[in-house]
Amino acid sequence: MKHSFAILLSLILGTIPGKAQSDFQWPDQFTSAVILTYDDGLDGHLDVAVPALDAHGFLGTFYCTGKSYSLFNRMDEWRAIIESGHELGNHSLFHPCDGERLDWVPEEYDLNTYTITQIRDELALANTLMKAVDGNDVRTYGYTCSDYLADGDSFKGVVQELFLAARSDGPIPTSMEEVDPWFVPSWGVNDPTGEELIAYVKEAQEKGTIAVFMFHSVGGGYLNVTAEAHEQLLGYLDENRDEIWTENFITVMSHVKDQLGR
Ligand SMILES: [Zn+2]
Repeated sequence: MKHSFAILLSLILGTIPGKAQSDFQWPDQFTSAVILTYDDGLDGHLDVAVPALDAHGFLGTFYCTGKSYSLFNRMDEWRAIIESGHELGNHSLFHPCDGERLDWVPEEYDLNTYTITQIRDELALANTLMKAVDGNDVRTYGYTCSDYLADGDSFKGVVQELFLAARSDGPIPTSMEEVDPWFVPSWGVNDPTGEELIAYVKEAQEKGTIAVFMFHSVGGGYLNVTAEAHEQLLGYLDENRDEIWTENFITVMSHVKDQLGR
C-alpha cells in the first residue's frame, strides 16, 4: 500500500509543469563554467596574464593573429605556454573587420571587401601557421571584432567547417541548450573593475551557464584590464574553484558539444 502511494506520488511529481530540468550537465561537481580568452597576441599576455593564470593553476585561450609581432618575436615563449596547456586560438592572419562600423580598419582588411573564399583561405592559412607553432590539428576561432559577414554574407559556415567551436559576443546564456558552439557569447571588456568582472561570473553561476571573457590588453594598452582587476577575478575563481569550472575554450566547448549532441 505504501509502495503504490510512493509510485503514485512520483508520477504526479513527474508531471508537474516546470519541474522538467535541463539535461545539460557540467562535469564532476561543477555548476557553471568560466572561460578566459585574450585577443590579438600581445606581449602583455606573456608578461602579465600568463604568470597570473599559472599562479592560480588556470588555463587561458589566446586568440592570436598571424601578423602578431609578439608571436614572431617571442615564438619560443608562445610555444612554451601552449605546451603547459594554454590554448592557441585562431584569430585570422590580418584581423579583418567591418570597416563601415569601425573607422580604424585598414581598407585592405575591410570585411566588406572580402569574399567568402578569401576569408576561408585566410582562416585556413592561419590554421596552418598555428599548427606550425603548436602541432595541433583541432582549433577554435575568435571572430575578429565579433564580425561574421564578408561583403554582407555570413561566413559562419566556413567557421563551422574549419573549427571545433568559435567565440562571438553577447549576453550570458540563460540555458546551455541555447548556446551555438560556433557563436558562443562573450563580454569584450574595456577597463572593467574587479567587482564588475566578478559580477559577470556570478550571473553565470546563478543561471548555471557560462561566462566567457574577451580580454585584449592586460596591465596596460587598448581595451585594457588592469593587472589588479584581472587578479581580483582570478582570486574569486580560485576561491570558488570547486563550483566554477575555469578552463580553456576548446576543453569547455568539447564538453558542451558532447552534452548538446552537436
Ligand atoms: Zn582581435
